[in-house]
Amino acid sequence: MSERADNPQLTPTWLTDVAGDDLTPPAGWHLAFVALGANLDDPQQQVRAASDALGELSDSRLQRLSSLYRTAPVGVRAQPDFINAVAALHSRLPPESLLEALFAVERQFGRRREFHHAPRTLDLDLLLYDRQCIDSPRLCVPHPRMHLRAFVLVPLLEIAPGCLIPGRGPAAAWLPAVSGQAIQRLSR
Ligand code: AMP
Repeated sequence: MSERADNPQLTPTWLTDVAGDDLTPPAGWHLAFVALGANLDDPQQQVRAASDALGELSDSRLQRLSSLYRTAPVGVRAQPDFINAVAALHSRLPPESLLEALFAVERQFGRRREFHHAPRTLDLDLLLYDRQCIDSPRLCVPHPRMHLRAFVLVPLLEIAPGCLIPGRGPAAAWLPAVSGQAIQRLSR
């Protein structure tokens, strides 16, 4: 019997949402959450097309996609509002390869990296990869600022209400900290 079956307390609660609809990946697969954001060139269309591209990533399957949300820019204020969403993927790719695949999608969408917080056609961030904590020069997981951003927490909790952020606890517990950040849910 597996460790999980032996001891229900070890079941990662963020793998199962409140609807009882299970996000547990099959053996050999991993559960990853990816944040999507855009604020240039018809950003709603960019995010919808990017979610289609996530659905076509090699060795990966798109499991859930949140609603789209309109959010005010963080950092540099004098730029258009963002459209954000969060996707849940099952992937057989190791985390660094998944990040590379996300960069390839960003390039496909003509991402410009002009300066930090600059407007962007498409930004993809790897938020969570199983319950792993990774801190390498190229990849930090959990994404270090995810718990401080309404544009991440709100769509993430829509698709995974029981989500835990390793090292930070339940994602929902961080909602009060971002309550001052404007976020508007758009139709699906
Ligand atoms: P940004 O321009 O804000 O999208 O940041 C991209 C840079 O952050 C790249 O150099 C990535 O290697 C690095 N990075 C570190 N951790 C992550 C992560 N979890 N998701 C996406 N990019 C990451």
